[in-house]
Amino acid sequence: MVATLFIDGTWRAASDGAAHEVRSPHDQSLVATVSQATQADVLDAIGAARASFDSGIFTSWSFKARSELVSKIADLLERDTDVIARKESDDTGKRFIEAQYDVADVVSTFRHFAALGAKEHGRSVDVGIAHVSSRIVHEPLGVASLIGPWNYPLLQIAWKVAPALVAGCSFIVKPSELTPQSAIALMKIIEEAGTPKGVANLILGPGSVVGTSLISDPRVDLVSFTGGLTTGQTIIRAAAETVKKLALELGGKNPHIIFADADIDAAIDNAVTAAFLHSGQVCSAGTRLIVERSIHDRVVNEIVRRAAKISLGGPDDEMAETGPLISQAHLNNVSAYVQRGIAEGATLLVGGKRSDKPEHAKGWYYLPTVLDNCQGKMYCVQEESFGPVMTVEVFDSEAEAIAIGNDTVFGLSGGVWSGDAAKAARVASALRHGTIWVNDFGPYRPAAEWGGYKQSGIGRELGEHGLGEYLEIKHIWTNNAPSRSGWFKDQ
Ligand code: NAD
Repeated sequence: MVATLFIDGTWRAASDGAAHEVRSPHDQSLVATVSQATQADVLDAIGAARASFDSGIFTSWSFKARSELVSKIADLLERDTDVIARKESDDTGKRFIEAQYDVADVVSTFRHFAALGAKEHGRSVDVGIAHVSSRIVHEPLGVASLIGPWNYPLLQIAWKVAPALVAGCSFIVKPSELTPQSAIALMKIIEEAGTPKGVANLILGPGSVVGTSLISDPRVDLVSFTGGLTTGQTIIRAAAETVKKLALELGGKNPHIIFADADIDAAIDNAVTAAFLHSGQVCSAGTRLIVERSIHDRVVNEIVRRAAKISLGGPDDEMAETGPLISQAHLNNVSAYVQRGIAEGATLLVGGKRSDKPEHAKGWYYLPTVLDNCQGKMYCVQEESFGPVMTVEVFDSEAEAIAIGNDTVFGLSGGVWSGDAAKAARVASALRHGTIWVNDFGPYRPAAEWGGYKQSGIGRELGEHGLGEYLEIKHIWTNNAPSRSGWFKDQ
């Protein structure tokens, strides 16, 4: 029986023995069989996290000691890079080399939070009274449910686990049911590094089955979630009952604005990468191209030429530039999204269908797609496809470019290309999105905050705020010369 749940420091099978088969999106081959938790297992994991937190077994460690633990985890992750990258590419279908880059990013994330934790925490406040000392102290927030998506499975979990450990929280990790293997590997490393029993717990299974208690149980203080908007809304509703803290990283439909005075060659190349990297399965993908009318034909023709030549393939295909979609259901959704765009009046310039190459027959390969002549109110412009689908709109003025870029319920990221630094700075400032790239698209660093405006989320990951999500802030006022308050008459 497979035993891949980690509860209270022990590897366990599901209480009813249930298991789940993970299949490669590249060819549907069986890549792993993992335990599928029951409701009883979830309650056990929450109980273990709560008991470990309340016992003080980890909260009593100093920030410095917890940072050293996180640093050790970074070393072990680095040691196991290739083993973990293999699991990640098996589950997601992404190229092995991309999975190696992802693990490198995971290691950097752990190192960033280790360094942040080692800094001084808290501060003194001058309250203007000589005999009063006032301290602001940071304390671990409590028990956290950490729920991740399937596109960057380990990285999105790492953005939560590393700060939770530095802060001293106890937690339950739940990766996507489609991509569980890298989270199992991470838990083994967390165990090997010497994390106290019950602090880190792992639950596997579909959100609809194992998620409910993780987001509503009164013993959970914080839900940190990365995934789709609809699931995020469900979590907000469920968390209301017990007023949980929430950190939500949701979807995006991210504007990518190109002005006529930009470095057009660089802008085009980045636009192709922004939309089609990882087949568009990137929350910050630049899939909403907004291009100045005078350069529309030049830019779009070249993007279409490039998109048609993108080479698709599985984890070990050295010629491949990107891989399959995660599942058949997702492929069907992306396909329906494109058809709906065409029905609404968009012009299909390239792609718009599943790859018909024989070597892709068993995989979920969808061709890079460009939809031109799009208008702001179309479904394909407003909604995220989370697939390789670029929509194109035109603008005639700076004000119009900004208005289009902000005409969305989302606010995760955006890009602006211009040779006029002052104009680019004005547009970057006016766009209501959490990350803006100027004359670039896509890079991020763990030291810089990541997160969404509007319906792209609540709170921030990474940077300094990414640790703050896992901390409570307490003010301690100490009067060193006690005296009567004298407010009421003492009759
Ligand atoms: P999803 O919302 O379907 O699932 C995300 C996770 O939530 C999975 O682990 C799933 O099992 C779980 N879940 C589902 N229903 C649940 C419930 N009722 N209770 C508790 N947990 C539940 O999202 P997905 O399809 O895995 O990921 C794609 C989405 O994630 C896209 O919208 C993408 O934009 C977003 N995303 C955002 C960021 C970001 O940084 N903002 C990063 C990556 C992905």
